[in-house]
Amino acid sequence: MDVPTDRPDTAVQPRRLAGDTFVFESITNSGYTNGVLIDTGPEPEAYAGWPISDVLITHGHADHFSSAAALRRGGARIIAPREEVSLVENPEVNIRGMFSWARPSDAMVTKLFRGDGAKVDGYADEWKGAGIDGIPLPGHTLGHSGYLTADGVLFSADAVYQRAMWQRHPLPYAIDPGLVASSLSVIESLDFDWLVPGHGVPTGREEALLDIAHHRERMEAISASLLAHLAEPLTTEQAIAALSRDAGLSDNAPEYWLAVTTVKAYLSDLVREGSAEFFVRDHAGWWRTV
Ligand SMILES: [Zn+2]
Repeated sequence: MDVPTDRPDTAVQPRRLAGDTFVFESITNSGYTNGVLIDTGPEPEAYAGWPISDVLITHGHADHFSSAAALRRGGARIIAPREEVSLVENPEVNIRGMFSWARPSDAMVTKLFRGDGAKVDGYADEWKGAGIDGIPLPGHTLGHSGYLTADGVLFSADAVYQRAMWQRHPLPYAIDPGLVASSLSVIESLDFDWLVPGHGVPTGREEALLDIAHHRERMEAISASLLAHLAEPLTTEQAIAALSRDAGLSDNAPEYWLAVTTVKAYLSDLVREGSAEFFVRDHAGWWRTV
């Protein structure tokens, strides 16, 4: 397609990666091919002049669908993975999940989880069009999905953290590290020439494969370090503190609450694989190696 010319001067020009697939690079990257937008950046004005019939959402974290409600008001249909629909329609569901369904105070909640909900018009697994394949890549969230365009561009959202991103995010949010690892293998098996992460820069296949290998190595190192800490029994709080200290996280409430979910996910993985156990003592939850 041709690049629209009637756009505001201030709008960031998207980049054509391959064929008819474009990327709008922003704090959250979004993709565009033949009238279909994949995720959204924070500014709906960025898409002025680009006709959008459908918006495909990768997962229910609000920083990936910030402009969805506005684009839907403009006539676009919103499509999301089945397990993510309630989170996209009401970001409060994800926020409550973070806090074991109790109501957290505002100061505890990362701004990445806050935003306008958008009514979802269809499920990603039933949606067909524009030569795009939806690829389930769970682990970051339950229904997290990537989208592969006919031009060989994979929009992988938060399934892979590029090497440079690990500096800023040494303990990437995951609800299930085992599923993150299998999703990394799925990505390796896909026929793509470009990978566009949710945050970071589009890269060619060779670089992306190095990022995937690095992501896998880092996760294995986190898991091994946690297991080493559990040679002495630790409460859940102590385990969270140990991994957060290793990662060099700062002491702030939103970062702490994200780490709670991620560390519990690693702890639970160790129990499922039989290398650690959980018990309750003195009314606290404890973990130790077996
Ligand atoms: Zn996310």
